[in-house]
Amino acid sequence: MLTIDTEISGSSSRWQELGRRVLTGDALTIEEAREILQSPDEQLLDLLAATYAVRRAHFGHIVHLYYLKNAKSGLCPEDCGYCSQSVVSDAPIERYSIANERVLMEGAKSARDSQARTYCIVASGRGPSNREVEHVCNVVKKIKQEYGLHICACLGLLKPEQAQKLADAGVDRINHNLNTSRRYYQEICTTHTYQDRLDTLKVAHEAGMELCSGLIVGMGEEQQDILDAVFELRGLDVKSIPVNFLQAIDGTPLAQKDELDPRYCLKVLCVLRMAHPSVEIRIAGGREVNLRSMQAMGLYAANSMFVSDYLTTKGQSAEEDFAMVKDLGFEIVIGGHEGADDSAGLA
Ligand code: SF4
Repeated sequence: MLTIDTEISGSSSRWQELGRRVLTGDALTIEEAREILQSPDEQLLDLLAATYAVRRAHFGHIVHLYYLKNAKSGLCPEDCGYCSQSVVSDAPIERYSIANERVLMEGAKSARDSQARTYCIVASGRGPSNREVEHVCNVVKKIKQEYGLHICACLGLLKPEQAQKLADAGVDRINHNLNTSRRYYQEICTTHTYQDRLDTLKVAHEAGMELCSGLIVGMGEEQQDILDAVFELRGLDVKSIPVNFLQAIDGTPLAQKDELDPRYCLKVLCVLRMAHPSVEIRIAGGREVNLRSMQAMGLYAANSMFVSDYLTTKGQSAEEDFAMVKDLGFEIVIGGHEGADDSAGLA
């Protein structure tokens, strides 16, 4: 009994010490990140408590909600193995070309009604046509006037002039996920490269927009691939990191992948928070099926999540999300706090 108590208090102080160091500005090392991913389940609450101290210092009890609008669905010539909208997917999804202004404005209203701070306009495809960029720019100006929402666009690979047009129209942020490591990327997609993704992030950044880029965990990668992607993001000045947990969709090449262990998902979120203490970490797709009954605990590491549905899969209802945040004693905030806040002690 004495041995067990000693082990428990040792793990508690180990993670507390790591959290303290991160809060004083020490950068998490890749070895420490690996240690978190491989930590025994018995230490999970200690690890989460230490991670929560870091989350609380930068984001208090605030939760930001994001609302996704699939502005163009399916019809994509790319072969991303996880995606139901790919040319290699037989998933029975809706397929349509870019949504008109009315539909995108209705989405903006739903975002506002769902207490979302950010409206994410997402279009399938390798990259947008110039006509699609013009259309998104025109609608974004109207959304900004009418609803004042923070806008994130996820339109695929961008050319520099397209990125500049989007920035000039008021798009605040571009989402383009790294998804996995450079090494593993070719296992999940052969029609574009990891470097193509980095290049799009670069042109978006140069155009003056914020960057949102994250991961998909559970695609058959090794732990090292997750760690490589987490640390690659460090050099990219990202403001927001969505962490997707693969929801294997029938008809896609990754359909047979098993659901993840929810405790492992929580450790991944702890790595992200410790490695990127002041960056917004968002629990993204696959939350419900992979974290399952432990969804709420994810918000002790992450400070943001999507509300309502994902691109081609259903999420839990907005009411259930509101109740979960309330039960945690956290607060949904629509505007204001931008993250990357170095004023520790918000809570
Ligand atoms: S480029 Fe986008 S829409 Fe196309 S298959 Fe890949 S993830 Fe899906």
